[in-house]
Amino acid sequence: MIDFRNLHADRVPGRYNAEKAPHKAVLLLAIIKLYENKKINLEKIMFKDMYLLETYKDIWKCLDYKKLGPISLPLFHLKTDGFYKIHFKVEKPFSPKGSLKKLLDQAERAEFNDEFVEILSNEVLRKKEIEEILTGGHFTTKEISKVNAKLRLLDKSFEYEKILNDYPSKSFETKFVKDQSKEYTKVRSGSFRRMILKFYNSTCAICRVSIIVEDISVIDAAHILPFSEFCNDDPRNGIALCKNHHWLFDNGGISISPEYRIKISNNIAKETPEGVLSQYFRKKITLPNDKILYPAKEALEWHNFRWNFI
Ligand SMILES: [Zn+2]
Repeated sequence: MIDFRNLHADRVPGRYNAEKAPHKAVLLLAIIKLYENKKINLEKIMFKDMYLLETYKDIWKCLDYKKLGPISLPLFHLKTDGFYKIHFKVEKPFSPKGSLKKLLDQAERAEFNDEFVEILSNEVLRKKEIEEILTGGHFTTKEISKVNAKLRLLDKSFEYEKILNDYPSKSFETKFVKDQSKEYTKVRSGSFRRMILKFYNSTCAICRVSIIVEDISVIDAAHILPFSEFCNDDPRNGIALCKNHHWLFDNGGISISPEYRIKISNNIAKETPEGVLSQYFRKKITLPNDKILYPAKEALEWHNFRWNFI
């Protein structure tokens, strides 16, 4: 029988704020929240799933640790607590010691066991198990209230994401009215980021690079019409970019034509080593699978005009 209260976890005094290491508890809470918001497949858990990585990171960030605890550790070790079975590609798997890449080299998915699926599918049991996880010695009292607040915000953030997902079925509007509530500020950027990373497969639309460092995607969800001016979180106002290309896009070094071809500023190209930027000139960006999610032409035209790309 699986036991949410007594997860096997490290107890190195002084290393963790509470009695036990919080990694497994955070991962289980992330899985439960994703299930409740229909963002996880109950048959299999994919280790590189962006929702899983982002939600785990989000919960972890509310704890009082300087560094994010890598997700690869609990993903690998939770199998010993009976929550799921991992299908390994290798005969003798070793602990990935904090590297998602190493974990993915050995295995890429796990199958939930029936008992866990039964608990996840039952609202009363889910609530009870969240309580058990929270009070199982992985968090301090102060952290428990922070995690509870974070779980509520996550629900709101998934609700906001549903609203954003409906926009592409309507005509594109450039400017939104800003919701002034504090909660909205906390909720919205996570929703927009998850959505854009999902549509672009966590890959920069310009250089096609997907980088995961310390188990987190370092690709950004960029706004075409700047959020500070337009407050527009419509997925068609978003594009996934790496840090370099995001900066260049926001500062007029790069733009994208309404036909989705890359434009490069002469001034910036002159300042960069031969070929670094010019290799992308007039190339088509990577686009989402679904045409309805392509960047809005109105937003791209505005960006071209704003930065004098005619
Ligand atoms: Zn890039």
